[in-house]
Amino acid sequence: MNIVIFGPPGAGKGTQSKFIENEYNLYQLSTGELLRKEISNKTKLGSEISSIINSGELVSDHIVSDLIEKFIANKDYKGRLIFDGYPRSLNQAKNLDILLNKYEQKIDIVLKLSVSLETVKKRISERLTQENRADDSEEIAIKRYKTYEKSTEPVLNFYEKSKLLKVVNGEAKITEINDEIRGLINAIKGWL
Ligand code: AMP
Repeated sequence: MNIVIFGPPGAGKGTQSKFIENEYNLYQLSTGELLRKEISNKTKLGSEISSIINSGELVSDHIVSDLIEKFIANKDYKGRLIFDGYPRSLNQAKNLDILLNKYEQKIDIVLKLSVSLETVKKRISERLTQENRADDSEEIAIKRYKTYEKSTEPVLNFYEKSKLLKVVNGEAKITEINDEIRGLINAIKGWL
C-alpha cells in the first residue's frame, strides 16, 4: 500500500513514518530529507535550494517531482511508499496522481496529523536541541507553519473528496498516535 502522511512541520510525520515503515515493510520517502541530503552533499541542486529551505518556503514543484519520480519508478518500492512531506500543494497532489498512474500505482490512505501552532513551536524548540536542522528556529517554524496553512491545507479537500483522508490527533502521545494509525492501516489492509 502507498500512504501519504500529512501535517504541519513538527506534527510528527517523520516519527510516525519511521514506525509504519518498520511495521509494514514500507519505504519512507521524505522529500525534506532528500532535499537536505542534496545540501549536505554540496550538489549543484543543493546550493540552489538551501536558501529557499532555510527561509521556510517551498522548493519548485519540478525539482521535487523529479526526486520522487525516481522512487515511484523503482520496482523495489512499488506499492510500498510512504510519502512524507509530499504533496505540499494542490499542484503537487495532482502531479502525484499522474506519476502514480504512470507507474500503475495509487494512494491507499492519506493520514493527517492534526496539531496546533503552539504544539509546533514547542516541538520545534525541542528538536533544535536534538537535531541540527538549519531550518529549525522558532521564526522559521512559524513561517513554515504559515506556508503549510496557505499552500498545503487546501490539498486536504482534494483527498477528502476521494475519501482517502483520515485525521489523527497529533497532540496525543507518540505511542497513542501510532496505535491509532495502525488501526486505520489495518482496517484498510483488510479490504485491499
Ligand atoms: P520537511 O522536512 O518535510 O519539513 O521539509 C523541509 C523543507 O524542504 C520544507 O520547508 C521545504 O522548503 C522543502 N520541501 C520539502 N518537501 C517539499 C515539497 N513537497 N515541495 C516543496 N518543498 C518541499
